[in-house]
Parts: sequence; C-alpha cells; structure tokens
Amino acid sequence: MVRAGNDDADVIVVGAGPAGSAAAYYCASAGLNVLLLEKAAFPRDKVCGDGLTPRAVKELVAMGVPLREEDGWIRNAGLRVIGGGHRLELPWPELSSYPSFGLAKTRMTLDHLLAEHARAAGAKLLERTNVMGPLVDERTGRVVGVTARPVDGAGRRAGDEVTYRAPVVIAADGVSARLATALGIEKRQDRPMGVAVRTYFTTPRHQDPWMESHLELWDGAPGRSNLMPGYGWIFALGDGTANVGLGSVSSTAAATKIDYKSLFATWMANAPAEWEFTPENQLGPVRGAALPMGFNRLPLYTRGLLLVGDAGGMVSPFNGEGIAYGIMAGRIAAQAVAQAAARGTASARERALATYPQIMRDELAGYYSLGRTFVKLIEHPQVMRICTRYGLPRPLVMRFTLKLLSDCYEPRGGDMVDRVISGLTKLAPA
Ligand SMILES: Cc1cc2nc3c(=O)[nH]c(=O)nc-3n(C[C@H](O)[C@H](O)[C@H](O)COP(=O)(O)OP(=O)(O)OC[C@H]3O[C@@H](n4cnc5c(N)ncnc54)[C@H](O)[C@@H]3O)c2cc1C
Repeated sequence: MVRAGNDDADVIVVGAGPAGSAAAYYCASAGLNVLLLEKAAFPRDKVCGDGLTPRAVKELVAMGVPLREEDGWIRNAGLRVIGGGHRLELPWPELSSYPSFGLAKTRMTLDHLLAEHARAAGAKLLERTNVMGPLVDERTGRVVGVTARPVDGAGRRAGDEVTYRAPVVIAADGVSARLATALGIEKRQDRPMGVAVRTYFTTPRHQDPWMESHLELWDGAPGRSNLMPGYGWIFALGDGTANVGLGSVSSTAAATKIDYKSLFATWMANAPAEWEFTPENQLGPVRGAALPMGFNRLPLYTRGLLLVGDAGGMVSPFNGEGIAYGIMAGRIAAQAVAQAAARGTASARERALATYPQIMRDELAGYYSLGRTFVKLIEHPQVMRICTRYGLPRPLVMRFTLKLLSDCYEPRGGDMVDRVISGLTKLAPA
C-alpha cells in the first residue's frame, strides 16, 4: 500500500457514521492523508436509539471529543430495568477501565460532531458523494480505490462518476455493506440479526437520568394483558425529547415476521401516562432498520479492504449497541493502516494490515460467541420470562447481567463478577 503518483490519498474511508469518522480521525491524527466519502450531507439522521454506554463514552474520551453538558450531552447514571413485575435502577459499575456514566445524543448531532472532529484532525470530508463500488486492480485483485457519484440532497445523481484512488480502503458504509458485498463478502446466516424501530416524543421527563429498558411489552395493562414479542427502550435526550423504540433479535439472519410499527403503536397506547407519549407529542414517523450482530461479515480484512462497524456486523448481540464497537473498530483499523503505511515491503504491509482482524477477533470473538448463545436462549419467551421474574430481584445476578450485557467489566482482575465474565469470554469458542 505505497501511495502511487496518481493516488488521491493514503487511505479512503467510505461512510461518515461513527465507525468511519473514528477511522478517519485516527488515520489523520497519525499523519495520513485521508479522504472520507459520505453520501449524505450533515446534519443527517440515522435510525438509532441514541444511547451510549460507558464503553462508548470511553471511546469518545479517547478521541478527545468534548463531553460537557453545555455541549448538548445528557449523562445517565445507569439502567432502569422494567419487567416481571419488577422495576430496578442499576447504576453503571464503578470500574477502573470504564467511566461510571453513559450519555445520549441524537444521531443528527452526534454524527455531525464526529465527522467535524475527523475533519479538524485533517481528514478531507466529501459529502453528497455516493460510493458505487470498489475499484479493483485487475492484475492483483486488490482494492485500489472506489468509484463514486455526486448526489443532490435527495440522493439523486448530480454529476459524472468519479474515481478516487488509494492503496487501502476502509468500508464504514453501514448495514448496506455495499463494498463488502461487491467483493463477495455476504452476510452470514448463522449470526444474530436484530430489527428495531424508533421515533421521538416531546416529554416532561426528558431529563430522566436513567436509560429505561422494558423487558416486556404488554398490549394492555402490564401483567394483566398479553405479552407481545420484543423489548423496548426510552432514552431521555435532555432537549425536551426522548428516543422511544422497540426491537427484537433472532439467532439467524432470517427475517422475523413481526409488524413492528403496529407493535409500537400498541405499546405506546399503553405506556405510562407520565411520559406523555401521545400522538400530538410524537415528532416524526416511526422508522426502523436492521442491526447486524456478532461479526456477521467476515473476513474483516481482505485485499486492501477493511470492514468496520455495521459493515462488518459489529452490533452486540447482548444489547443492540453498535456505536462503541464501530468507533473501536475504526480506531484499531486506523492503527493497522498507519503501521502498514510505514513499512518498506508489500509483505510487511500486509502483515500490518492483518493485525486488524486478529485484534478484533482477540477482543470480541469470545464475547460475541457468548452473545449468540444468549440470543438463542432469550428467543424462547418462557426462558426470558423465568429469567425476568426470578433473576431481576437478585442483586448479584443483576450485577453480573448488567456488566455482561453492557460489556463493561474489568478485563483483568476486578471482582468475582468481572473474573467470571472474563473467564466465560475466554472459554467461548471464537
Ligand atoms: C433502531 C435502532 C436502534 C439502535 N440503538 C442503538 C443505541 O442506542 N446505541 C448504540 O450504540 N447503537 C444502536 N444501534 C446500532 C447503531 O445505530 C449502529 O451500530 C451504528 O450506527 C453503526 O455505525 P456505523 O458507522 O458502522 O454505520 P452507520 O451509522 O450506518 O453509518 C454509515 C454511513 O455510511 C454512509 N454510507 C452508506 N453507504 C454509502 C455509500 N455507498 N457511499 C457513501 N456513504 C455511504 C451512510 O450515509 C452513513 O452516514 C441501533 C440501531 C437501530 C437500527
């Protein structure tokens, strides 16, 4: 990956979501010449819950993103879990490896902020640039750039196709994974896939300090009506609004036959009155998207192309969190690319790039494998009901569950709970 005379950059990053902006930020900070291509123009929306656990906060801190409340962040103290007739407030654990608070911010503002952060570090951001596919060298089979098309605000073609060249390309194009698909990297059927929908409401409880999680969705009065499939969340955004959504997860990539929008309407009709989730207070439509989980596209590196974030299916099967893992992948991919750029021979550069999938596997494969087992269990409503009813009132079980589900535990040392989780992730087949 030596930059040739006709190359436009040392590295091209496709997609300026959290994964792409993190990759671009870290590559630019390492002194590389970075081209960050994004089909939308900021600020742009992305269907998401807008919730950030301490794991995501840690990544934002590492990137030097200012997190003051006056910058429009709302902090949360932990999870409020509702289910099985229980209502528990579980503070984030006090650990040396992670902060003890989470955050929330709309993707409209978060993604804009991160893209600007990458730009401030030196990345060249080209918005309204829709990448059509990889540019593959016929002789070597390597990805040596991309072809792209300028588009207008509605995504319509607004000019001639352009070719951008670089010795390495980072695909951060989200769940659509156009670049990976073009190279024949299909989504794996044996990995979990989530589907979720969300909208926003104005609410008097917009400063609620807990991320609220509903383990049961009722079609009438809780406990006295029918249980519906899926889980719900309410994340207060501190700006007069809350993000409200629900979703479900399946242990395979097969599509579930749930009508999420009507499920959402039924849940909202029975939501506690104090939130004021009325049709008049709803802001915008209910929108949905898929959550690709547990490394559902592999390999994460091949022939000059690295997959980061949703493009590599990195959402946690435990809790649907993808932002922290996207930023983490961007950081580790950028380190591999920067190391490769400093090497003198093609084989040494390949070895450096190959550290990216290796590190991601070492860090997450065991945890994701446990997550697959977890999804297979909670797919059975009876198992979930027993866990909710009998597990929730037990403090030790809940401490374990919170640390496991949020992936916030001490990887080395820590207390008994930390050591059990760490041991389990090592035992699980990668
Ligand atoms: C309903 C729902 C709720 C969720 N809630 C949470 C949550 O609360 N917390 C959490 O951590 N995660 C949550 N997730 C998961 C999270 O949204 C994703 O994991 C995360 O956005 C992945 O980031 P990314 O950068 O990989 O991809 P994206 O955020 O999807 O960014 C991809 C970017 O690439 C651009 N792009 C795509 N194709 C092209 C192309 N061809 N050319 C140029 N640009 C392109 C897109 O416009 C976009 O800007 C949720 C997901 C859903 C669906």
